[in-house]
Amino acid sequence: MNKKITIAIDGFSSTGKSTLAKQLANHLGYVYVDTGAMYRAVTFFAMQNGYINADYFDIQTLINSLPNIKLHFKFNSVLGFGEMYLNDVNVETEIRTIEVSSFVSKVAEVSEVRAKLVEQQKEMGKDKGIVMDGRDIGTVVFPNAELKIFMTASATTRAKRRYDELVAKGDPVTFEEVLANVEERDHIDTHREDSPLVMADDAIEIDNSHLNREEQFELVLELVNEITKAI
Ligand code: C5P
Repeated sequence: MNKKITIAIDGFSSTGKSTLAKQLANHLGYVYVDTGAMYRAVTFFAMQNGYINADYFDIQTLINSLPNIKLHFKFNSVLGFGEMYLNDVNVETEIRTIEVSSFVSKVAEVSEVRAKLVEQQKEMGKDKGIVMDGRDIGTVVFPNAELKIFMTASATTRAKRRYDELVAKGDPVTFEEVLANVEERDHIDTHREDSPLVMADDAIEIDNSHLNREEQFELVLELVNEITKAI
């Protein structure tokens, strides 16, 4: 039997990281962890408690409240992935709104938030057999991952994908609003001091502007097979 490895998938927002990660995890029988959902859940907590809004962010109170934030994923066999729970409440729908998206990169800049989530992520991956997606997985969370993928696509392509998803869910957004959010998050994610979004030296870059899901999946599966055969 092939040995289990750690697969780190990083990249810009809406590059289809989670789609690829879920496909791989289901196919390989690995655990899938969406670390963006964890940052989104902390952001939702901050919003619910009034620590963050359009013109205000009480960073210190959020830091002091971190011990009161309990996050876990619970596998939903119908959906085929783990849904995000914040203090035992399913927040999978609430964390996907454009409002949460507009604040999440600010929350993700806070080092104390990152330290807490990274510790939990390392723990989840200690037995390998995991596909984790995010921004700092190959650089900070699992610097020794056997396979690191870095996904890119143009901002317009990505905004169009996110816009279609939100519209399908009935979210009243405009394309311009979504594009502005994608660009703003790119900027904050790549310029923050703690764990900025950068490609790990040993990552394989995939630009999927012109690749469909199946082509992308086959490409990465090939890499996984090569690595697991070699170890
Ligand atoms: O992946 P997703 O777009 O849901 O992530 C939401 C935000 O969470 C990102 O824009 C980024 O600011 C933050 N994030 C992060 N580190 C991760 C995952 C997400 O900073 N590992």
